[in-house]
Amino acid sequence: MSERDRYIKAWDDRRARLFMLCVAVVGFAFTVRSSPWIAGAFFIGAMVGAYRYYEFRCPRCDRHFLPFPRDQIFFDTGRCDSCGLAANALPPDDGGGAA
Ligand SMILES: [Zn+2]
Repeated sequence: MSERDRYIKAWDDRRARLFMLCVAVVGFAFTVRSSPWIAGAFFIGAMVGAYRYYEFRCPRCDRHFLPFPRDQIFFDTGRCDSCGLAANALPPDDGGGAA
């Protein structure tokens, strides 16, 4: 697997984690009044989704992409907290042949 493929796979994983989080939050919002048990399941899903979203690691520096909040809330700036790599960025082309 090339470096470029590894980045693409990592960004796809990040989008999937964000999608799971959004589905769980929207599911919770739509079911909280009508069926509390299903809303509870969505709430747990949202917690797991938020944790997995924060657990995503930068494909360049392999550290947490988002800072872990300790005393304040951090919002997703679209850049790696450690190395500043922008989300969905690809590595510079090394000219290593077509694939
Ligand atoms: Zn990084």
